[in-house]
Amino acid sequence: MKTRRVIGISVVVTAAVWFQVAGRFEAHRIDAQREARAPSQMRAASLRVDSDRLMEVVATLADPKFEGRAAGSPGGLAARAWLLERFKSIGLEPVSGAYVFPFTYTRMSATGRVDGSGANIVGQCLGTDTRAPVFVVSSHYDHLGVRDGVVYPGADDDASGVAVMLAIAEHCRRAPFRRTLVFAAFDAEEAGLQGAKAFLIAPPLPKERIALNVNLDMVSRNDKREIFIAGTHPWPQLKPALDEVARQAPITVLFGHDKPVAIAGGVEDWTHQSDHGPFHSAKIPFVYFGVEDHADYHKPTDTADKINRGFFVDVAETVLDAVLQLDASFAVAPPR
Ligand SMILES: [Zn+2]
Repeated sequence: MKTRRVIGISVVVTAAVWFQVAGRFEAHRIDAQREARAPSQMRAASLRVDSDRLMEVVATLADPKFEGRAAGSPGGLAARAWLLERFKSIGLEPVSGAYVFPFTYTRMSATGRVDGSGANIVGQCLGTDTRAPVFVVSSHYDHLGVRDGVVYPGADDDASGVAVMLAIAEHCRRAPFRRTLVFAAFDAEEAGLQGAKAFLIAPPLPKERIALNVNLDMVSRNDKREIFIAGTHPWPQLKPALDEVARQAPITVLFGHDKPVAIAGGVEDWTHQSDHGPFHSAKIPFVYFGVEDHADYHKPTDTADKINRGFFVDVAETVLDAVLQLDASFAVAPPR
């Protein structure tokens, strides 16, 4: 008995210790999960980006009521109106007296000539030095629309980029940068970068005033917590500042996807895969943030519930760091 009691007691003690350890282990696992889903209060306090707002923008734009936001469609027009209100409520100012810049385009598709229309939403946050060349921070608000009766929500592509762009705008309103930031929500990106092309054909500000394009397209989910930065190969002057950002980032920052395939060992070249392409063609430096394609890319399953909130917030913070670092490192005297 005694022995049994001793054994009993030691069993109870061991079990108690075991349960405690297991419990702590379990608690730790749950904490890690909770941290990945939503940053802890401690971490949340240090964040400059409001994660609830970030998720709200994605959930709103990916809502079926916007019918996948095809350029020029009723859903696309409704998304445009929502975004215009958000630009104004953040306090962004018009550029050359306007926020909405309509355009038309013609392109050749597999089935022949396609005529389309869209409108870019543009607003600015003035810098402390308004002589300094400006940065254009961009994303695209359109997506694939409805196909065969199925809505393509486009949560990651590119409601996530719009959300991070708006978060930078809100930060800018709170703490202006040295230079003016022009925020451009492009339309008809899915129809061949049409909004960005129209922006550079008829820019709302002199092209010579644009020192850099920071483009965001698909920035909210990657199982390995990796984000790519493209642009430092063709524009090496960007690398020192971005190396510093990568060194401090809470996620893995990879450089690449910006070399011709022939010299990149078959790695895909994203230089002309999103709205930074027309800037590059106009000889304006770019930095593009984006994740590797995932299983839901251009599928009806690209929904807001698939977004990894912790990673998404960390990307937004990293992009904010990059704009701050580049603002500090870029010359303020007009480049040309
Ligand atoms: Zn996209």
